[in-house]
Amino acid sequence: MTATTHSPASTEAPLAPGTARIGFIGLGNMGSGMTRNLQAAGYQLVVNDVRQESAADLIANGAEWAANAAAVAASSDVVITMLPTPKHVEAVAMGPGGILEGLSDGGTWVDMSTSVPEVANRVREAGAARGIRVLDAPVSGMSVGAASGMLQIFVGGDTGDVARLRPVFEAMGDPERILHVGGHGAGYAVKLMINQLWFSHLVATAEVLSTGVKAGVDLEVLRQALIASPANSNFVQNDVLSILNHGDYDEGFAIALACKDLGLSVDLARSVGVPVELSSLVEQLYRRAKALYGDTAGEMTPVKLYEDAIGMQLRTAAEGA
Ligand code: NAD
Repeated sequence: MTATTHSPASTEAPLAPGTARIGFIGLGNMGSGMTRNLQAAGYQLVVNDVRQESAADLIANGAEWAANAAAVAASSDVVITMLPTPKHVEAVAMGPGGILEGLSDGGTWVDMSTSVPEVANRVREAGAARGIRVLDAPVSGMSVGAASGMLQIFVGGDTGDVARLRPVFEAMGDPERILHVGGHGAGYAVKLMINQLWFSHLVATAEVLSTGVKAGVDLEVLRQALIASPANSNFVQNDVLSILNHGDYDEGFAIALACKDLGLSVDLARSVGVPVELSSLVEQLYRRAKALYGDTAGEMTPVKLYEDAIGMQLRTAAEGA
């Protein structure tokens, strides 16, 4: 089915369910859960993905399929992208049949991908005379958070636009953790810094647990001692349990995308002139794990580098529980 043309809402009222049409491009690990929650909240959806089959359930529940990004943009009040890399964002936003072609005057594009400001800036500049609005609103919370509608969302853009989009964000995220973090590009920067620190925690935790266990300390005794110490972190206390208890390295976020995020983070540091030796090392370790275990391995797979080094898996007695 091809989308029909539709004028964007003329008022600046918040885009409430039942009245607003949301375009959504990128129905992967994250986008599939986010669109299901938008639909459940009562938004009419217009969707597109290179994999049309990814839209089957949404269409069965009343979403409209559009042939390309321009058609999505032409028939929506706001168009959202949730795409793998800046290259994909550029193709969808500015390529032939892209968002810029389809957006009506005054239309809005929100990029929720983990990306960089360059493409959004170019769309904003190209669309300035037509009143086109662009926001960056990347997310944290893994595919589990996307599915449960509890994402954390970091929004960069104008205050009025953020207020207008708030109900849309609330359909996908935790209302307490939808943060307007600054002007255009601030959302992308905050998201990259969060991932950089989390991936750094992962590598540091893998080193410490492997060394301690190899030195003869019980894994869970060591972890509890770390939790009770000033060295505690959310990763030690919570996230690492996915591996220790279940052998789950989180394939919901591919290591290829983690490497993309780390590369963008190091690039950002370079562009603002900050030396980041530790971040660069973490990026290289991630790239080594990607080369060894494959692009689709989970984002926590670098822990395996250390498990391989000590010749054992880091698992608690509760594994499989
Ligand atoms: P994914 O690869 O699972 O999904 C991306 C989707 O985009 C796929 O369905 C793909 O077919 C589609 N796509 C690619 N090119 C397209 C095009 N030209 N036109 C239309 N559709 C196209 O990726 P994901 O895990 O959902 O991640 C999406 C974004 O969210 C990434 O920027 C990622 O870094 C970020 N992110 C992911 C997670 C996570 O846990 N997976 C968490 C936070 C942020």
